[in-house]
Amino acid sequence: MTTETRAFQAEVQQVLNLVIHSLYSNKEIFLRELVSNASDALDKLRFEALQAPELLAGDPELAIEIEFDDTARTLTIRDNGIGMSHDEVVENIGTIARSGTRRFLDALSGDARKDAQLIGQFGVGFYSAFIVAGDVEMRTRRAGADANEGVYWRSEGKGEYAVDRIEYPRRGTEIVLHLKDEESEFLSAWRLRALIHKYSEHIAFPIRMRGEKEEVAEEGAEQTATPGAMETVNQAAALWARPKSELTDDDYQGFFKHLAHSDGEAVSWSHNKVEGNQSYTSLLYLPSKAPFDLYGSGRDERHGLKLYIKRVFIMDAAEQLLPAYLRFVRGVIDSDDLPLNVSRELLQDNKLTQQIRSAIIKRVLDMLDKLAQDQPEKFANFWREFGQVFKEGLTEDYAHRERISKLLRFASTKSEGAEQSVSLADYLGRLRPNQTAIYYITAESHLAARNSPHLEAFRAKDVEVLLASDRIDEWALSYLHEFDGKPFVSVAKGDIDLSNIPDGEGVSAPPSAELPEGLAERLKAVLGDRVKAVRGSARLRDSAAVLVVDQHELSLHTQRLLKQAGQAAGGGAPTLELNPTHALTARLAGETDEARFGQWATLVFEQAVLSEGGQLEDPSGFVRRLNDLLFGA
Ligand code: ADP
Repeated sequence: MTTETRAFQAEVQQVLNLVIHSLYSNKEIFLRELVSNASDALDKLRFEALQAPELLAGDPELAIEIEFDDTARTLTIRDNGIGMSHDEVVENIGTIARSGTRRFLDALSGDARKDAQLIGQFGVGFYSAFIVAGDVEMRTRRAGADANEGVYWRSEGKGEYAVDRIEYPRRGTEIVLHLKDEESEFLSAWRLRALIHKYSEHIAFPIRMRGEKEEVAEEGAEQTATPGAMETVNQAAALWARPKSELTDDDYQGFFKHLAHSDGEAVSWSHNKVEGNQSYTSLLYLPSKAPFDLYGSGRDERHGLKLYIKRVFIMDAAEQLLPAYLRFVRGVIDSDDLPLNVSRELLQDNKLTQQIRSAIIKRVLDMLDKLAQDQPEKFANFWREFGQVFKEGLTEDYAHRERISKLLRFASTKSEGAEQSVSLADYLGRLRPNQTAIYYITAESHLAARNSPHLEAFRAKDVEVLLASDRIDEWALSYLHEFDGKPFVSVAKGDIDLSNIPDGEGVSAPPSAELPEGLAERLKAVLGDRVKAVRGSARLRDSAAVLVVDQHELSLHTQRLLKQAGQAAGGGAPTLELNPTHALTARLAGETDEARFGQWATLVFEQAVLSEGGQLEDPSGFVRRLNDLLFGA
């Protein structure tokens, strides 16, 4: 024996401890995780066997077995899948190769229910064995390797593990859990079967357990009990390949949980068998909750669709089948026509793939239309969870821009709170007489948008403005030039002329945008390059001043975001607009002392910067100036 003891990578131990402690209240999921690993291993073998059929030699029927021994207090999960070599065991089980681990650790909330959903998404599934077992043994052999190339692994989950090379007579992996004293509940055929039905019903391979013991009465001998034969416990058929009429909502939800590695529900699904110039089956789900890393890297390999070809699992996250802005969709595509040796590259320029992809996009948009129409509350929830991702579609999918636009939801000056609930159709239904554009504002936060001075004239005219404060908004909206013939116009850009629109109820006539003679020139002379120009404003009612960029420039807040990210913003200086009716304007116009005029002018400019959410170049200078002017120094 050449048993080697190795230490877990520090992060593995940390994950292990977290998994054991935070998931205890949901401990039964260990079985789901180990069965799911076994099923993945079978999928991988079946895939490799396409090129190398000899891998299946002598043991062609792929299956998972679950056995327990109540005397030894062990529970065994066994598969005849791909198995692992010595190096793979060390790599896969002793370290966490995936870069997501750090994020996993950060994401754990201590809320066991939520954390339980994270576990599968992060590939810490194997470690869940230690929730119920004080000691875990594994025997495994890579498919195609010789009998003496088996690997033995054992650990108590406390900092180190042992590995050794052994003889192992069969292909695949066997995991033996030595259950802790208090976990006897898992030494029950009834309990285990119930768990398999609950979590693993839709694994496409048979999961087998031993049947009831058979009492055999032999003549002249005592009654003896021989163990029953192995029997299949789950459905063991690809769910999507079964006819719709046979499937219940529970079946679909159960399969969704398996796909999504989560306890969350699907909001809706669409199951279709397509026959024609090519045949394939698609089963697409809209989830009710976003995985927490949807926005980060967002393209984790566990997102998206699983591609099968004639029931053989080919790959996860077939991004060629689904554009990135629909990456929240889960599901399966099973094609009869794609070649079995397909690769990601091949998928890319395959005509069949392109057809499937555009059919899937239509199906998903159909599902969303239906949800918006029939179940607006569920659609609102969808929008909260996935709206930001969905908006990327404006930039990505030109062909469906109109359909995407109809599904967009915004906060607006005519809706309550920050909730994005206004559709563009709602907006058009509330156009004011002579209103020819759809107005919006982008800002860092919802409050900054809602309270922006840019909105003052729009309020006075009772014109609705869409409030866009998601990070993606400025970028996404720049692709949305018009809707139903009405152009999109930012209220913070260019010249705004609302003079043809009647005043709102109880609002006095708009002030003229004319500044007192010569004031604009005096201000420009003081402010120099900080402003492009100074002019009277038709936007303002209560505020003294506001900064405006040209129609085709990035908004000031986006320029700031770019600058923070180290990119050249490229915007010129903004234009300062001054409210002709404000007391400060009168004060400026009446100031004859040039030094004092300079102080007032700078202060007005700085106010405009601040109300825009911007940063002052010289904050302490601002405070000094303000105090000087307040106390008449
Ligand atoms: P995940 O399955 O999410 O990647 P796990 O911690 O559950 O994370 O497993 C880590 C890795 O160990 C797997 O990706 C796989 O490569 C390997 N592995 C786990 N169980 C098995 C098994 N039964 N057969 C073969 N390989 C396995």
